[in-house]
Amino acid sequence: MARYTEAVCRLCRREGLKLYLKGERCYTEKCSVSRRTYAPGQHGQGRRGKPSEYGMQLREKQKARRIYGVLESQFRKYFQEADRRKGITGENLLQLLESRLDNVVYRMGFALSRPEARQMVRHGHFSVNGRKVSIPSFLLKPGDTVSVRQASRDKARFKDLAELLRTQSTVDWLEVDRDNLSGRFVRLPAREEIDIPISEHLIVELYSR
Ligand code: SF4
Repeated sequence: MARYTEAVCRLCRREGLKLYLKGERCYTEKCSVSRRTYAPGQHGQGRRGKPSEYGMQLREKQKARRIYGVLESQFRKYFQEADRRKGITGENLLQLLESRLDNVVYRMGFALSRPEARQMVRHGHFSVNGRKVSIPSFLLKPGDTVSVRQASRDKARFKDLAELLRTQSTVDWLEVDRDNLSGRFVRLPAREEIDIPISEHLIVELYSR
């Protein structure tokens, strides 16, 4: 499957905010956004005029894609599904993105970033309702249980995880069983529970052009 392979810190600098793509480094002074506040590339420090309406819509969509690590074609499919569902399209879109298995693994605290969660899922470390799932875009439904697979629990990455999880808080719409290295997707999050700095209405406007 195609994926983005450029240095991920460039993406944060392009968007002018932390997208938290590198785990621990994102919380240290080594973070590139903290050190260099201008966009990457030859013209990154040049003057930029006021962005057009289209430009702002495009940036918002790119930001969302980059936070969740979704390619354009897949992102458009999420939008179409969000539009088809009842309710507010922008909120539906964010709920779909939050329901991805890699995002939930990250939100539960099993990984330090979404890219790391995606890799861990691909490597087959997780099961959903007792069955191995290695597809990061797998969409969870309320009531689904996500667990670290028995065969993976002896691996170095997971040995200290229960301790690490004790120090972390999780979101209200997920339940985490720290001792059993598992968690439950309780319900879809409301918009105000999704701490993503995105104006989703701009994305809806972009795709509605
Ligand atoms: Fe983004 Fe993290 Fe790199 Fe900072 S360290 S620029 S937040 S990926």
